[in-house]
Amino acid sequence: MSIKILKNVFDQIRANAEETYPEECCGLLIGPGDGEKKVIDSVKMTNAYAGPKNDRYHINPLELFKEDRGVAEKGLAITGIYHSHPDYPAKLSAYDLEHSFPWYSYIIVSVPNGKAGEVRSWVPDDERTTTSEEKVEVISEAS
Ligand SMILES: [Zn+2]
Repeated sequence: MSIKILKNVFDQIRANAEETYPEECCGLLIGPGDGEKKVIDSVKMTNAYAGPKNDRYHINPLELFKEDRGVAEKGLAITGIYHSHPDYPAKLSAYDLEHSFPWYSYIIVSVPNGKAGEVRSWVPDDERTTTSEEKVEVISEAS
């Protein structure tokens, strides 16, 4: 399995991860509404986690549902969620898995020393006990 992502969106996500360093950034991955695993846009979200934001993020569900409706009105769909791991590998943590939605892809940007590094994508299983990795394929155009 793989997930395609437009180069400019890939760059936006990496830039967002560097801007919020040393805190985690988070946002939505927007895809075409036809079920294809392709990211054509992203939406920055507020990290609403109440504690230290260097190794946790939380997206307000109301904010998420509002965006979900807006995206659907445009005929698009939320494909997944991205967030950053400041000074930590781009692997889905136990906390991330526990708070995941199994129908989303989770793209994580590792940010060692404030510079965006490795980008990996994970898909939780239905029970949210394990994840499988999907290959991130950066593409240059919308086709
Ligand atoms: Zn995480």
